[in-house]
Amino acid sequence: MRQKGTLSVIPPVNGKLSIDEIGDEHIGTSYDTPLRPDAFEKDDELKIELIEKHFTEIMQILGLDLTDDSLKGTPHRVAKMFVKEIFSGLNPDNKPKIKLFENKYKYNEMLVEKDITFYSNCEHHFVPIIGRAHVAYISNGHVIGLSKINRIVQYYAKRPQVQERLTVQIAQELKEVLNTEDIAVVIDAKHLCVSSRGVNDTNSSTVTAQYMGKFQLEACKNEFLKYLGNLNG
Ligand SMILES: [Zn+2]
Repeated sequence: MRQKGTLSVIPPVNGKLSIDEIGDEHIGTSYDTPLRPDAFEKDDELKIELIEKHFTEIMQILGLDLTDDSLKGTPHRVAKMFVKEIFSGLNPDNKPKIKLFENKYKYNEMLVEKDITFYSNCEHHFVPIIGRAHVAYISNGHVIGLSKINRIVQYYAKRPQVQERLTVQIAQELKEVLNTEDIAVVIDAKHLCVSSRGVNDTNSSTVTAQYMGKFQLEACKNEFLKYLGNLNG
């Protein structure tokens, strides 16, 4: 069973939904990651120190014995992993620097980079989203190194996310970098908050798509989808 994601703009949460409903229905509020104005006033080292302290408390409240050799390093490991790895894409300093190349071959057809594996985290539950991104563009005179498409996907994945926002953020970034409207992004992902808890549905995956410019034309979109084949591989 596949859930078909849509990209309609979700209205701001009006307070009528409970926090469990917002999480289990995966309601997002905006395409920009909601960040505080002071998000980067603390440096990484201070953030790690503070998160370590708070995670120690969470573990203690759960009743875990932090004098145990196996557990005592966990608050530091978690804090470092949050800041330096799985949420490092929050910090604009970590955004990949993109260098474009001239389209010397005059290749004017679509370029498809498919099956880009990524690991993200659901912003409602802080558990993994595991998926594959498929990206296409048509050159507007410049081309991008293929590994850079991968890096853009990884950068936006390394944030607390909702899948619709991840899809749009990747498409918008490519549009800006490549200076073209002709961009397509399809994401097929599994949400561990759906499979390992809640409804415990281990089979479903969620597909979201953003088609811009020429990719909104049926022929172009169909060509792209043909290259992707069966999304389940
Ligand atoms: Zn979730």
